[in-house]
Amino acid sequence: MGAPMRRMNVVTVAASLVATSLVATSLALGVVVGFAVPAGAQAPASGATAFEGARLIVGDGRAPIENATLVVEGTRIVQAGRAADVRVPAGATHVSLTGKTVMPMLIDTHVHLSATRESVIRDLRRRAYFGVSAALSLGQDSYDLLDIREQRIPGAARFFSAGRGITMPEPGRIAVSQQHWITSEADGRKAVQELAEKKVDIVKVWVDDRAGQFKKLTPEFYAAIIDEAHKHGLRVTAHIFNMDDAKGLIRAGVDAFAHGVRDKDIDDEMVELYKKRADMVVTPNMPDRGVKTDLSWLRPGLPAADFEKIEAANIDRPREQLFHGIQARNLAKINAAGVRITLGTDGNRAWRPHEQMEDMVLAGMTPMQVIVASTRNAAEFLRMIDAGTLEAGKSADLLVLDANPLDDITNTRRISAVILRGAAVDRAQPVR
Ligand SMILES: [Zn+2]
Repeated sequence: MGAPMRRMNVVTVAASLVATSLVATSLALGVVVGFAVPAGAQAPASGATAFEGARLIVGDGRAPIENATLVVEGTRIVQAGRAADVRVPAGATHVSLTGKTVMPMLIDTHVHLSATRESVIRDLRRRAYFGVSAALSLGQDSYDLLDIREQRIPGAARFFSAGRGITMPEPGRIAVSQQHWITSEADGRKAVQELAEKKVDIVKVWVDDRAGQFKKLTPEFYAAIIDEAHKHGLRVTAHIFNMDDAKGLIRAGVDAFAHGVRDKDIDDEMVELYKKRADMVVTPNMPDRGVKTDLSWLRPGLPAADFEKIEAANIDRPREQLFHGIQARNLAKINAAGVRITLGTDGNRAWRPHEQMEDMVLAGMTPMQVIVASTRNAAEFLRMIDAGTLEAGKSADLLVLDANPLDDITNTRRISAVILRGAAVDRAQPVR
């Protein structure tokens, strides 16, 4: 008997994919993760799954493909395109995504995760729940945690890390054990050498006096750090606050900013400096808008106590609105100037990319520009050659949505399913 064509809706995708990737334990696991495995479900002969009928947003800025087919084998996409152009292998499992939109999973290029292995893995699982496939932790991570980067933990985002970042002493703010506190150029070079030995993904520096509380890295110190990093093939990303520091860092060859300029509206000279550096990456990392918003979409994704805490802080804050306004205008300016932008959220809020994307649109980016910043640009920044777009050869990291985010960017929150490295992420319960 030939393999019967199996048609499923997206709710049963999880069961199908679990069955495909873990044949021996599929039934047991199917029960554990709360999805009903259809009677007689088994791995199809070809091992391929064809996701059919969705609108496909590739992630590189091209127009969406209506009625697309994506063929996934194991952890990879093997074909993606218009249904008419894709040849689905015989025996493939067919999954109908009619009415859905599929886009690449999001990549967050500025986070700070927890301090222990167990809690970092929980943080990464929370990110996968919210459709985030990778996160770059910027500068407060113990070297003991760096091996998590090589792991592919089912249902968990990938981890990238700057290890211990570099700053002048900031006693009382962050523990020295989490940072390199330097007071000379030689200290700075030594810190970079240690980071290179630990093979961090990027070097993080803070250039900020925290409203006059501390001395900030001098131009001589950060020039030495950038020079030493580049000698070791490492890039440097800078936490900045003031435009003058941003200008100094660009002139010293910094590779990225982990924030936009925050003290004032940027001037023409700043825009010109950006334009001269086509390779430069800016993670605008917009602060909270400071307005009360509808958070009901978050309720199913968080433990009740966590949600209540966030809702209690959900009030209008006029000072933050002013602060947000500066950064929104600066983002609009650099976006218009063609600066390469990536998604970043700071802190440890797994859902925050969805709010950040809305903020980026409100600042004047188009939904498509924001999606590219959050997928392809972010993947390229992290040098993830197999992620960021949905194309043949890439990791099958699919964010399946109930509505089109090009119509309204908040539709990224309307998650129907998350498929990470070809396997459905269990979204039946919030990650605890
Ligand atoms: Zn940060």
